[in-house]
Amino acid sequence: MASCPKGQKRNESEDGQGAQGDDSSIHRQKDMEAGNSGPTINSLNWLGMRFELITIFPEFFAGPLDHGIVRRARESGLVEVQVQDLREFTKDRHRTVDDRPFGGGEGMVLKPEPLFEAVESLLGHDVGDATKKNEVDSKTAIVLMSAAGKLFNQETARKFAQLERIIFICGRYEGVDERVAEHLATDEISIGDFVLSGGELPAMMIVDAVTRLLPGALGNEASSQNESFSARGDLGTDPSHQAEITRHQILDFPHYTRPAEYRGWCVPEVLIGGNHAGVAKWRRSVALEKTRRNRPDLLPRE
Ligand code: SAH
Repeated sequence: MASCPKGQKRNESEDGQGAQGDDSSIHRQKDMEAGNSGPTINSLNWLGMRFELITIFPEFFAGPLDHGIVRRARESGLVEVQVQDLREFTKDRHRTVDDRPFGGGEGMVLKPEPLFEAVESLLGHDVGDATKKNEVDSKTAIVLMSAAGKLFNQETARKFAQLERIIFICGRYEGVDERVAEHLATDEISIGDFVLSGGELPAMMIVDAVTRLLPGALGNEASSQNESFSARGDLGTDPSHQAEITRHQILDFPHYTRPAEYRGWCVPEVLIGGNHAGVAKWRRSVALEKTRRNRPDLLPRE
């Protein structure tokens, strides 16, 4: 078995206070709640974010909303989440939300009426019709989850985090009557180039990505500023490349925790000695190297 440089083992006991869990940001959130660090809701005059999820499977969200950062954000009042059962907006005995597609073809399509009415009920006003469209508040987004939508990324998450309210429409079956995309939704969003069976998971991914960007959600704002897809300006070692790279996003640097040696695999030595400048330099270079290896599309062409 390979043995790690001595310094690493010595360091293991140096700060025995460290979190042992797998979700260190949750521990940071605890610190924040205890008043140790991070901005408070009041200090930022933050009004909070309201997420509303329109779905035919309301129970779907029970698990994902009840864990980790999202759960804490709900408990602290940073976000409010309402799950709206689409079938409450049906008028027939069978509570029908779907119908056969015009023009033929497989599958069923979600009907427009329950979706328009569900959104209007949440908004508290009429969205209008073909003769007169009523605008929605600019701080509100109505997001249709759709494999045919615009691709979601961290920039979209940052944009959404500026809003006060996001209403998600979760599709099912073959999809949703196109008039919803055209005349009801403010955004039609896909979470990736693949097809899922419903919009619930995609909507939940956006709730998660946006929540962790809200001031106070992580308890340490630096953790959302120094992670993958957040453009960092100090990456290039070659100054001629600097401007190019700052315009691009890179992946996070690799993280390590105790034990310093595991099955003979050692933590990089530079992380052990307490040389902060050395650590920063190493992190910049491996983040860039990892981006080149895993996501060359994020970087300028060489
Ligand atoms: N016929 C559609 C797929 C329908 S899948 C097509 O080929 O584009 C059923 C529902 O799942 C969609 O209405 C949408 O709400 C959701 N969905 C599937 N894949 C998705 C993706 N990549 N991003 C966001 N939502 C997706």
